[in-house]
Amino acid sequence: MNHIIAVDIGGTHLRAAAYPLSSLEPLQHYRIKTYQGKRTPQQNLLQAIRSVWPPQGSVLGIGVAVPGPVDPYQGWVLSTPNIPEWRNLPLAQWLSEQFQCPAWIENDANLAALGEWRYGAAQGHHDVLYLTISTGIGGGVIIADRLLRGAHGMAAELGHVTVWPEGPLCSCGLPGHLEAIASGPAIVRYVREQMSGGVSSSLAKAPLLSADQVAQAARQGDVLASQAFQRAGKYLGIALASFLHIFDPSIVVLGGGVSQSGDLLFQPMKEQLRQSVFHPRYLERLQIVTASLGDSAGLMGARALVEDQLHLQKNRPDP
Ligand SMILES: [Zn+2]
Repeated sequence: MNHIIAVDIGGTHLRAAAYPLSSLEPLQHYRIKTYQGKRTPQQNLLQAIRSVWPPQGSVLGIGVAVPGPVDPYQGWVLSTPNIPEWRNLPLAQWLSEQFQCPAWIENDANLAALGEWRYGAAQGHHDVLYLTISTGIGGGVIIADRLLRGAHGMAAELGHVTVWPEGPLCSCGLPGHLEAIASGPAIVRYVREQMSGGVSSSLAKAPLLSADQVAQAARQGDVLASQAFQRAGKYLGIALASFLHIFDPSIVVLGGGVSQSGDLLFQPMKEQLRQSVFHPRYLERLQIVTASLGDSAGLMGARALVEDQLHLQKNRPDP
């Protein structure tokens, strides 16, 4: 039996899964902390892949989802937020030598988009916009049945579009990016700032604040918490209108933890979207849905990446 190995380099953990070509259920799944024990992240990555390596049959290829900018053409990790030593690392070539089989890497949000398109919420669509809203904001775009990569392989960094030039600083160091206003930490930061400016809120008693807590408070009628989501949703709507103008998708898939807050975020987003699109036609038959693969999107995307590279689409199982 032939297999594909998919790897997801997460914020704190590495995950690996071995998928038989004929099935969407992994044969083996393994999760390890990036900095487990005294081993380097690369050593832990080797262990994760070895742990899922199928005892019988062959491995056709390894696909790896990496947070942060990568060069998918050369197989290089340019940088990745939680593993500072991975700078300009030729990861695909190194894996390929270690395991004597082809390996490819790609940005994790791009692969989540690929996974949701092939196996999740966006099946059957030809033009897909995927946005993940959690600790950061990432994006992926499918145009005419192809993942948009760009000249440097760095296309669709949708969290780093400027929506407010005088706005707060983004994790990347630049001001006013969508991520700096609508990500989970950005929502929390806004609530904190308002409270230290004297605005009262039921959240004042919470020592450690999360976007999830802000969502709960908003549902219980906390005015500041509702405002925080109104504000994030408004800027998401502004950005989304621009994305529709550029890519004109038939479906928008929203993933990531903050998307779980649902209408708290989506209602102000949709309201702003209607005001910000320059022509109503963009919204005709446009579907806006939540992602369906959960935290498997990166792994499923990494699997789809290998299928695409090896032109295995004909043998693909039905989801
Ligand atoms: Zn940024």
